[in-house]
Amino acid sequence: MAGSIFKDKVVVITGASSGIGRELAYQLAEQGAWLSLAARNEERLSAVAGECQVRGGRAIAIVTDVSEQAQCAQLIQRTMDHYDRIDMLVNNAGITMWANFEDVSDVGFFEQIMRVNYLGSVYCTYYALPFLKKTKGQIIGISSLAGRNGIPKRSGYAASKHAMVGFFDTLRIEIAEYGIGVTMIYPGFVATETRKRALGADGKPIGKSSVREDEVMSAERCAKLIIQAAATRKRELVMTWRGKVGLWVKLIAPGVVDRVAKKAIIEGR
Ligand code: NDP
Repeated sequence: MAGSIFKDKVVVITGASSGIGRELAYQLAEQGAWLSLAARNEERLSAVAGECQVRGGRAIAIVTDVSEQAQCAQLIQRTMDHYDRIDMLVNNAGITMWANFEDVSDVGFFEQIMRVNYLGSVYCTYYALPFLKKTKGQIIGISSLAGRNGIPKRSGYAASKHAMVGFFDTLRIEIAEYGIGVTMIYPGFVATETRKRALGADGKPIGKSSVREDEVMSAERCAKLIIQAAATRKRELVMTWRGKVGLWVKLIAPGVVDRVAKKAIIEGR
């Protein structure tokens, strides 16, 4: 696409094999971006990279488990070896859970959620930062409304998404002098595979979604909004009206927001 600010810009996207990350890759490819795509599933990742090329971008697939520090270092190094610059890093890879804390039979998976959602973002950002300084680039953190308020059945997930907010809100202040922007994204429910993959009380994927996936925001729409926020270097994007209003209401009546969060989980939308 002529005129896009992402044309010929090098964008690293973690969690690009599915859902929001895959849609981001497709839409940025259509705008002529040069993509470095990361996730664990090689077959799915390669298919996404192939489709990105069909849609007008350049793309490489780099199999990466972001919970492993060395693999994040390798992701950034291989991106530099291939493109010799990085303009934007999208910290999107994430996993979730679906269980009340008191029902959890193996609390070990809380560490796994933290390693993927929080530390994965920290590691990728750490290794990309020297190169983002050179381009006065942009960091995107995909948090969640669960990063701004507690949500039932998501305690470990909400903690990891709150951790992302604390980290990136601090980093934004520290690196502003280099001209690097930090944009935090707070989606509500988005129709992806995340809830089918969510870890249940035993720490294993539950295999089904408890959300009315056909009634929530599409991954296409979500990706479009993220790209708009990135293009205008917004500080943050709260995606739904419920989320936007909730942040204001929380200042004066936080219990009301808690009740809305509980209702959303019960109703699945
Ligand atoms: P999906 O499950 O569809 O996609 C998650 C992506 O993360 C996949 O590409 C997966 O690929 C990748 N991933 C998971 N674990 C790892 C890992 N250890 N290392 C590298 N990649 C990994 O979910 P979404 O698209 O919905 O999620 C994208 C982001 O959006 C997440 O951070 C999520 O928390 C956030 N979000 C989603 C919402 C929703 O309702 N869908 C709402 C709010 C936020 P692979 O398995 O191949 O590694």
